[in-house]
Amino acid sequence: MHELSLCRSIYGIVEQSAHGRGVGVIHLQVGRMRQVVPDTLKYCWDLVVQSTGLEGSVLEVESMPAVVSCRACGTETHLEDVLMVLCGQCGSTDVAVVGGEQFLLTSIDLVSA
Ligand SMILES: [Zn+2]
Repeated sequence: MHELSLCRSIYGIVEQSAHGRGVGVIHLQVGRMRQVVPDTLKYCWDLVVQSTGLEGSVLEVESMPAVVSCRACGTETHLEDVLMVLCGQCGSTDVAVVGGEQFLLTSIDLVSA
């Protein structure tokens, strides 16, 4: 599962940053182009951190809009459906993705033990 391997990567980063300190909330920004389901991501996180020092920590996933820029007419379109990558103005498929591909760990809230 895609989300599970993402959680393993996040785990590695968070564990290193936390240095044994308690972790409360991990804030992520996930672009919609990533096709990651936030609820699945949170579910996988619980599995990954089970019986580790990070057990009980929570993922907060902020879903970032997918945006494409049209090479034909220059319009930027916020995509509702990432399976239909088209310009909202002229319908061209000659578009560049300019937003929604990020997968960022923006901050970690530490808790005192
Ligand atoms: Zn266009």
